[in-house]
Amino acid sequence: MTASRIRREKLTIRRMIALYARRCPQALPDEDHYSALNAYADKRLDKCVFGENKPACKQCPVHCYQPAKREEMKQIMRWAGPRMLWRHPVLTVLHLLDDRRPVPELPEKYRPKK
Ligand code: SF4
Repeated sequence: MTASRIRREKLTIRRMIALYARRCPQALPDEDHYSALNAYADKRLDKCVFGENKPACKQCPVHCYQPAKREEMKQIMRWAGPRMLWRHPVLTVLHLLDDRRPVPELPEKYRPKK
């Protein structure tokens, strides 16, 4: 299978973070902060236990983000989500479709032992 889902999700997150950092009045005036957050999100996606079959992160039972980073990403998505439709309609529609995908079973090696 190709890495298209993860690649596309990285691109969507990059666009959302960039939009928030440039336009949101609550954004920190610190580009390095958002570059680091983007790198963190990329790393989480590279290590996602579901791989290409991942659910939307907000539906995920694993939640691999650190709590503070998770909160910040939620804040960014809440602000940037509705604004993305006009700027990046294809990415936004695909992201909304991803949100509706059922959460797959955890891969066997990550399931709790019985
Ligand atoms: S939150 Fe869940 S779906 Fe998102 S990257 Fe982490 S493990 Fe994967």
